[in-house]
Amino acid sequence: MLLDVRDVHVHYHKVAALKGVSLQVPSGGIVTIIGANGAGKSTTLRSISGLVRPSSGEIHFEGERIDHLPAEQIVARGIAHVPEGRRVFPDLSVEENLRIGAFLRSDKAQIERDIERIFQRFPRLKERRTQWARTLSGGEQQMVAIGRALMSGPKLLLLDEPSMGLSPVMVQEISRIVADIVETGVPVVLVEQNAGLALRLASYAYVLEIGSVAVEGPAAELKTNDHVRRAYLGA
Ligand code: ATP
Repeated sequence: MLLDVRDVHVHYHKVAALKGVSLQVPSGGIVTIIGANGAGKSTTLRSISGLVRPSSGEIHFEGERIDHLPAEQIVARGIAHVPEGRRVFPDLSVEENLRIGAFLRSDKAQIERDIERIFQRFPRLKERRTQWARTLSGGEQQMVAIGRALMSGPKLLLLDEPSMGLSPVMVQEISRIVADIVETGVPVVLVEQNAGLALRLASYAYVLEIGSVAVEGPAAELKTNDHVRRAYLGA
């Protein structure tokens, strides 16, 4: 397994947000984490990328324990996190935002090639290369946030609610982009409230309920699971 999260507990002050979450991510494909508001999905991603510290449990990446490392070293090892709310730098251009994603890299020629590859993948961003990020639409900002994460040259991409607040057309566009990223060999952990979308895209899924994994299994099986259908698919 590329990523192995073992019995992780996280507390905010004294309140438990994760109560023993275990999950595994193989070296290809999409693993999704679905669940209601406050179930602990974002906290799970934050614990993987070092933005919050587990109070107990272990996280291993490529066989190495990472849960004690500072966030910057976790990025350097190849985990890129696109947080909820697509935080772009509003007063920087699209291209400047992308370049920030490469801040830990020194391979200048490869950075230039990667910028051009991102623009090929996101033609909308190429047209807006010099535009301030704050003037972009929500979907375009999501593309910048994903593009910036890709500029770190990740081995694993963590995506928190990429579809949130986007129009159906833009949701389709982002889904296509995520599928494309996975095809180029970068596995994705996708956190989504839109369970239908998540189960269509992913190969394996975890359902979080109040800080614990309530159900897990191949996405195709979860789509037909009675509890999942009633609670998350509106069936
Ligand atoms: P959503 O879909 O609403 O983002 P989520 O499943 O991602 O929800 P988390 O954001 O991980 O859930 O939150 C899990 C629990 O931890 C919630 O009860 C939340 O109120 C709490 N929590 C999250 N961040 C903090 C924080 N910084 N301080 C205190 N409590 C927090």
